[in-house]
Amino acid sequence: MNCEFSLEHYRELLAAAKAGGYRFAGFDEPPQAGDLLLRHDVDLSLDAALQMAEVEADAGAWSTWFLMTRSVFYNLDSSEGERAVARLRELGGRIAHHAVWPNADLDDRFEPVVAWHNPNAEFMAAAVEGATNVMAPPWFDPDHYRSDSNQSWRHGCPHDALERGEFEWLQLLIHPEIWVFEGATMRESMRSFLDADRNARLELLREDRIDL
Ligand SMILES: [Zn+2]
Ligand SMILES: [Zn+2]
Repeated sequence: MNCEFSLEHYRELLAAAKAGGYRFAGFDEPPQAGDLLLRHDVDLSLDAALQMAEVEADAGAWSTWFLMTRSVFYNLDSSEGERAVARLRELGGRIAHHAVWPNADLDDRFEPVVAWHNPNAEFMAAAVEGATNVMAPPWFDPDHYRSDSNQSWRHGCPHDALERGEFEWLQLLIHPEIWVFEGATMRESMRSFLDADRNARLELLREDRIDL
């Protein structure tokens, strides 16, 4: 199996988790044996999140989407943002908050669940009043955590270990952008993202009746 960052391999990863007997779980309860806590930090693109959510729904999977209110790349208050939240929910996803330190904007769009964006070690696990920080115990434990950050798995792609049921439970952090936009390296994937973003913005200019 080719462990590339593509939606095709993401499908295989979900199938491996199913084959390993895992059940999908959220962050509303402490993790239990057999749980797969599938988490997405949406850093750049709601469109990438939606594409990934369609793949999950198709595979009978669901996850928790951590969305930003202070992103420089997308606006959750725009009509696109509102549509994205509605569709993610429709596909069975839960909505949590990807917050920019030190601001947790927990309004009623979000479950009381937070992950800090680009956290420094000092505040990664910091308590958030009235909410769960997913990087604090019992939801976080280094042996029960894998992340695809910057297209680099510290312990290799987890699909094999999932298929064999090797994790007692797992919090799996997947950034949709690096699987949806094509590229063999982070640099290439980000170029693909920028190309797609440019086209999307051209369309928005047209909708704003700008003479192009
Ligand atoms: Zn793999
Ligand atoms: Zn982030």
